[in-house]
Amino acid sequence: MSPKKVERFFATLQAANPHPETELVYSNPFELLAAVLLSAQATDVGVNKATGPLFKVASTPAQMLALGEEGLIGYIKTIGLYKTKAKHLIETCRILVERHGGQVPRDREALEALPGVGRKTANVVLNVAFGEPTMAVDTHIFRVSNRTGLAPGKTPLAVELSLLKRVPPAYRVHAHHWVILHGRYVCQARKPRCGACQVADCCDYPDKTTAI
Ligand code: SF4
Repeated sequence: MSPKKVERFFATLQAANPHPETELVYSNPFELLAAVLLSAQATDVGVNKATGPLFKVASTPAQMLALGEEGLIGYIKTIGLYKTKAKHLIETCRILVERHGGQVPRDREALEALPGVGRKTANVVLNVAFGEPTMAVDTHIFRVSNRTGLAPGKTPLAVELSLLKRVPPAYRVHAHHWVILHGRYVCQARKPRCGACQVADCCDYPDKTTAI
């Protein structure tokens, strides 16, 4: 995708949705971190169903730590991989309380040192909670970036680095949400809805469909 098309791609997505937001429900950086950690291989809807009641009783690392692993499992057992996630989340809470004063650190290295927190989760937290222009490459961003020619790459990291180079600065803070939402609802995995796509004229995918 040429730089001109990249600019138009984001200008179009921005015009349609000026303030894109994550579909995970949270009210502070810790809840966001917990929700993202729980969302691996799960849907945002499924995570929100579990975290609604959970965050009412545990909205800080100290409160969740007090709940304990078994207590936490009672709230999240509808989510895939809940046992491992409970273990990671409780250990993460312990570290946040002991080393970070109960706060989520605005620091990639400190975030990635937390159990269950990888580069993608750190990128989401840095972007959504702290407004940093990071690109958290999930399955949707990986697919859309490659399919459209926006930022081709063989690995999520390659796509992330390519996006950081190719997305014009004005769009960097929101780019990750625009591309995720575009992939989730329009440029879908099995059959992209090219007939309903607002950015079809910028997209280099050679096998466009007529689906709407
Ligand atoms: S035209 Fe089709 S392949 Fe290209 S971005 Fe739109 S939905 Fe995706």
